[in-house]
Amino acid sequence: MHGGFLPKSSTLRLYTSRKEGGRGLLSVRATVRDERAKVHEYIKEKARTDDVLSECLRQWQTEEEWLETPSWEDKPLHGMYHRQISEVAYVKKSYQWLEKARLKDSTEALIMAAQEQALNTRAIEAKIYHTRQDPRCRLCKEAPETVQHITAGCKMLAGKANMERHNQVAGIVYRNICAEYGLEAPSSKWEAPPKVAENGRAKILWDFQIQTDKMVMANQPDIVVVDKQQKKAVVVDIAIPSDGNIRKKELEKLEKYQGLKEELEKAWKVKASVVPVVIGALGAVTPKLEEWLQQIPGTSDIKSAVLGTAKILRRTLKLPGLW
Ligand SMILES: [Zn+2]
Repeated sequence: MHGGFLPKSSTLRLYTSRKEGGRGLLSVRATVRDERAKVHEYIKEKARTDDVLSECLRQWQTEEEWLETPSWEDKPLHGMYHRQISEVAYVKKSYQWLEKARLKDSTEALIMAAQEQALNTRAIEAKIYHTRQDPRCRLCKEAPETVQHITAGCKMLAGKANMERHNQVAGIVYRNICAEYGLEAPSSKWEAPPKVAENGRAKILWDFQIQTDKMVMANQPDIVVVDKQQKKAVVVDIAIPSDGNIRKKELEKLEKYQGLKEELEKAWKVKASVVPVVIGALGAVTPKLEEWLQQIPGTSDIKSAVLGTAKILRRTLKLPGLW
């Protein structure tokens, strides 16, 4: 009724704890199992001194063991995302948005359905449900229309839609830095930050093209923070790739800005570092992200990119009102 669950989404995942990437509902089955285990413990304890309970225990042990509950991670479609990110991501933190982002039920349900391939993309309709001939993307007509393609691969969305999501995440990082140094940040989240903000303690550049003596591969990172007292500069660049690519992207960003880092150290006489902030479109993060974020003044944590992704999915797939 309120869009809190999509029809093809995983019901097993409803009863998985939120820490492990589920919705955290309590199931009758699990409750019965827990209670049963407790009673079993009690009887085992008392059986030593009680004949009736001792007989009870003997009979119980011959009963068959409780059937293993299947898990959503093992399901071919529903668990595919989880298995994929297990190889590249820090799984514990990759589901953190479930606990921290405080999304609406329907948004949370949409992101989970996207992870579970439970959305009717054209590729899924063609390959899994055999209801459609053409599996190609409705926007670019070049690649199969998968969740991964829509959320991080389609060139037709690469401009405006993905930029909006990128700037939303970058804006949060920017605001945190401003707060740390007592600089004023734009009051509306839709307003772009100024190219340069400066006071006695720090200078912050936003999407600023930096002139260097030597040509460097990239000279326009998302954010540069110069701490004037500590004589330190931090080059921050943000990316929201598809979740399977987060590690590759992180390395790519690090390498891309090494030249700029060296030039800044020479020209500005500071100690500079490059900090990549890479978050998967569906929330996956690398094991190193926490460490990176700690190098950015004022930033220890970050809301995920999933809100922007939900918007892209809604628009592209033209989902009915609830989602
Ligand atoms: Zn496309």
